[in-house]
Amino acid sequence: MSTSETCGRILAALLPLGVQAFLATACETPCFPNYARNITAYVVEPNAETPGGIAVDESGFPVDLAAVDGIVDALEVCLGEEIPRECLTVKIAPDWYVSPCSGAQLFPCDIPQTRCANATPDCPCRCAGTVQDNTVAVTTPNLASLAHEVTHIVTGLPDPFPPEVAACADGIVVCTP
Ligand SMILES: [Zn+2]
Repeated sequence: MSTSETCGRILAALLPLGVQAFLATACETPCFPNYARNITAYVVEPNAETPGGIAVDESGFPVDLAAVDGIVDALEVCLGEEIPRECLTVKIAPDWYVSPCSGAQLFPCDIPQTRCANATPDCPCRCAGTVQDNTVAVTTPNLASLAHEVTHIVTGLPDPFPPEVAACADGIVVCTP
C-alpha cells in the first residue's frame, strides 16, 4: 500500500470533515510531482466515481465511467508507474464544443495562440484537455485527451513528451461503438 493510498483511506474512514480538508492538502504532495498549468479555472465538484475509484465531475454530460478506468488502467501499465486513483479527478469542461474546423471536442482556455501552428481568427487555438490545480484532468465527453492530461499529472513532464512517454500519452484512446 502506498503512502497516498494510506492517506486516502484514513481520510475517508476516520476523520471529521474539517480535518479531512486540512490533511487532503497535506496528502496532495506525495501523490504527484507538481504540474500546475492552470489555464482554466473551473469549479470542480465531482458528482460521480468510477468503479476504479476516480472522482469525476461530469458537468451534466454523459461520461463513460468504465472507459475512464480503462484509459487510466492502460496508461498505468504503459508508463510502468502507479497512479493513485484517489489523487486524480476528472473534470468535463462544461463549455466544450465541437470545433467546426477540426471536428475535435475543444473548450476555451488561456493557451498561448503560438501553441497552435495553424491557428486562424476563424479557428483559434483552444484546448482539447489541460491540467488544473495539479491533480484535475480537464477533458471532454469523448475523453480523447484524458490519457495525455493524466500523463502530465503523473510524470510532471511538459509538452512535448519524450517519445516513449508520448507513445503512452497519445496512444491510448477510448473505443466506443
Ligand atoms: Zn500536453
